[in-house]
Amino acid sequence: MAKKMVQRKIVLWLGGLIGISGFGIIVLVMIVVLLIVGIAGGSASQTVNGGGSYCSVTGEVNHDLMDSTLAGAGKLAGTKDMIIQLSSEKGIDPVLFAAIAIHETGYGTSNAIVNKNNPGGLMNPATGSRELYVFDTLEEGLRGMANTLHNRIIKDGLVTIEDLGSVYAPVGAGNDPNGLNGHWVPNVTSIAEELGGLTMNCEQGGDVLIVGDKAWPVPSTKTITSVYGFRTIKVNGVWQSRLHAGVDIAGGNVNGKPIVSYAAGVVTKSQNHAGGWGNHVVIDHGGGVQTLYAHMIEKGVPVGTQVNAGSYLGRVGSTGNSTGPHLHFEVYVNGQTVDPMLYLTPILAGASES
Ligand SMILES: [Zn+2]
Repeated sequence: MAKKMVQRKIVLWLGGLIGISGFGIIVLVMIVVLLIVGIAGGSASQTVNGGGSYCSVTGEVNHDLMDSTLAGAGKLAGTKDMIIQLSSEKGIDPVLFAAIAIHETGYGTSNAIVNKNNPGGLMNPATGSRELYVFDTLEEGLRGMANTLHNRIIKDGLVTIEDLGSVYAPVGAGNDPNGLNGHWVPNVTSIAEELGGLTMNCEQGGDVLIVGDKAWPVPSTKTITSVYGFRTIKVNGVWQSRLHAGVDIAGGNVNGKPIVSYAAGVVTKSQNHAGGWGNHVVIDHGGGVQTLYAHMIEKGVPVGTQVNAGSYLGRVGSTGNSTGPHLHFEVYVNGQTVDPMLYLTPILAGASES
């Protein structure tokens, strides 16, 4: 990323020379060459998912890029920490949130944000949703927008920029006579890239394996590294039989990769368990069936979150009692663990049939 920024500066500097030099054409050719190099250099350090969204190289927020991009976004300048805090409360990607806020407000300059503290363009129901809501502070307005995004992303499962664009700015809509909605997805995508890349849902889109109404929980790998059942382990020099009550899914570069819900349900636990499961999430699917997702790199989506099969829950890590990054996945039926492969094998079988 640093390399790319330097190249952008060189391009601007050469652009400034055109008027002075009189070698405009030569400079123009050089700019084109530098632009091509810049684009190639940039894309080599980024991962593009099936939907074309740019993803953070490290999987983390790039604080410098987020600060510098927001600094050039009018009233949104200096809101990075607020956006990160609200995103963590709502289980959404701070980079996606910021990218949409920047685009929707025309880089922090729209009437809605400047005069009404309303970056999300939320309408006031008291006016029959004809007028924009007026928030007392920008933080309140950002909170309202975070709530809306939470509902679209977490509750409705619209996890990619393309999915969100289909709701925020439907192409071909009757209220879009000039076809401006067509800019929404490419603009939000390129702003997300400017901010340092998305930090969530980068493996989602086409890569989540959903068969019927069930999803494979780790889109980036299907490797089982430890199965359900009794293991004989040595504890204080004595061999003991212990139940490994779930399956472990790992392999490759699984650290920080998304974990998704096996099926529809509601999050009933989202906490840290230092000595055991680390950061973990439990989902109640109804009918006495629950699933558990352990050792997440950070706290998963909050309690009360409604999920669908394939909804984002958190990211693979190695917190708690774990020797390396993996998902420890358990299935409970009426409070008792059962072999998760009884539930996971049909997903793999369904995928190989089609
Ligand atoms: Zn395990």
